[in-house]
Amino acid sequence: QETINQIAAGEVIDRPSSVVKELLENAIDAGATAVTVEIRDGGISLIRVTDNGCGIEKKQIPTAFLRHATSKIKSAVDLLTVSSLGFRGEALSSIAAVSQVELITKTAAELTGARYQIHGGEELSMEEIGAPEGTTFLVRNLFYNTPARKKFLKTPQTEGAYIGNLMERMALSRPDISIRFIQNNQNRLHTSGNHNLKDLIYMIFGREIAGNLLPIEVEKEHVRIHGFLGKPVISRGNRTYENYFINGRYIKSNLINKAIEDGYHSFMMQHKYPFVVLHLEIEPEFLDVNVHPSKMELRFRNQEEIYELLSNAIRETLSGREL
Ligand code: ADP
Ligand code: MG
Repeated sequence: QETINQIAAGEVIDRPSSVVKELLENAIDAGATAVTVEIRDGGISLIRVTDNGCGIEKKQIPTAFLRHATSKIKSAVDLLTVSSLGFRGEALSSIAAVSQVELITKTAAELTGARYQIHGGEELSMEEIGAPEGTTFLVRNLFYNTPARKKFLKTPQTEGAYIGNLMERMALSRPDISIRFIQNNQNRLHTSGNHNLKDLIYMIFGREIAGNLLPIEVEKEHVRIHGFLGKPVISRGNRTYENYFINGRYIKSNLINKAIEDGYHSFMMQHKYPFVVLHLEIEPEFLDVNVHPSKMELRFRNQEEIYELLSNAIRETLSGREL
């Protein structure tokens, strides 16, 4: 059973950044308005995620760590409704199988909180303690019991950089949540949660990269696109700065990249890759999603329509304006 859990865990949790991603998504699903992520040694020795969300009821804690106990998914399309990021109900069990987890949590309805420890999938302790409302996860010594997997980790610097990128994307995907990132006791990012995407873009990328930003705002029956378009980043002749989120998730789609680039190219002849941050909201029935434990493949029911809408939006944004 332990082996099965450890193998299955590898599909969800392959490095520290996947732990951070899952814990952040859980915090967001819990309705948190503020989340702090702290890491040491690239997240290998410690990841701490603290949120002010709804907390976990004491009697629900062991269940939350059971594989598939909480799976909320009914159909693949459910994944793309904004209501919930979690769906497989296997993140906590997978994380606990390959690390030493300590959980401190309290709901509004309970008078006291709980501290729960689970190492390598083995429950160690459950105590009643005083705690603020919300949840803190401490994940220590990732892959301490799966040396083969630990060997595949890169240096703490590289693993830390993956987490840094993830934190920036998560922050851009949710301007309404205050997100803080501390790496080796240093403040790396602290967003206000004031809903202002433009402020967020300048905070994360700086004026040098983001440059002047032109707003994009389009609405059609079942598609809404909003965000900002900037100058091409000459030093990067690739898609590094094409950031977009589909229904609040960071998902890659060649169609979206192509629409962005084609729209852009017709005005900025010599440049192909713009700086862009976009939020696309598409009604779930117009999306098709193929789910694999480690990746999501997205298809659109109405490919041409999305392509035209987005590339035209970019053309219109640029027409008669200077970047
Ligand atoms: P999923 O998110 O797919 O449901 P997880 O294994 O990530 O599965 O989490 C299991 C459950 O634990 C969640 O469904 C949720 O009920 C609870 N949970 C996890 N993290 C938090 C949190 N930060 N705040 C409140 N509840 C949480
Ligand atoms: Mg989850």
